[in-house]
Amino acid sequence: MTVVPIRRLIEAAETAITAHAEELTALDQAIGDGDHGLNMLRGFKAVRESAEEIAGLPFGKALQKAGMTLVMKVGGASGPLYGSLLMAMGKAGEEAPGDATRLAEVVGAGVEAVKARGKSDVGAKTMLDVLAPVQAALAGGAGIAAVRAAADDGLAATEAMRATKGRAAFLGERSVGHLDPGARSSALLVHAVCDVLEEE
Ligand code: ADP
Ligand code: MG
Repeated sequence: MTVVPIRRLIEAAETAITAHAEELTALDQAIGDGDHGLNMLRGFKAVRESAEEIAGLPFGKALQKAGMTLVMKVGGASGPLYGSLLMAMGKAGEEAPGDATRLAEVVGAGVEAVKARGKSDVGAKTMLDVLAPVQAALAGGAGIAAVRAAADDGLAATEAMRATKGRAAFLGERSVGHLDPGARSSALLVHAVCDVLEEE
């Protein structure tokens, strides 16, 4: 069984969200209601406060507990969506994925859960425009640099999209020309995970 540094992953995620909370809020002010930074901050602070307990659990249970915490603490659409991502990953991967193929399967289960929960898919200008290409990169055997690039390219692509899901969909055409806040938070989290994996 691979040892996954759950505690360091939690710390890296919380640090990244804290450092970029104002940016996430500004993005959400442009095409939403301006709460994405605070929502993410509240959720990831709560996960970090439970870091010791979470890190003591087996891999799958740890992800499920972190996901539950996000569902409970994050107001807004993003809480249940990130919660679904982590809970489905935890169910799909009882033990930590031992290789890239298994990791892609586990992340794939998470992405499918976000699609189901959000009744959404890529192209709707959401977090899925980062999460799905990242999963595809993993499934294709891409290395960490390519996974990072998939996140960055997916985020950048949201700028030209018209939102069809979530609050930004109310703006219709006026949502074009802005990055999606949830895609930005997803890219931040992907980079934070990559940072930790590269230290290994
Ligand atoms: P709220 O929209 O309730 O204010 P947040 O501001 O925290 O919640 O999160 C907004 C983000 O959630 C969006 O930028 C988008 O990435 C994501 N999102 C919203 N609705 C959906 C959906 N149906 N499917 C996937 N992602 C979604
Ligand atoms: Mg919002």
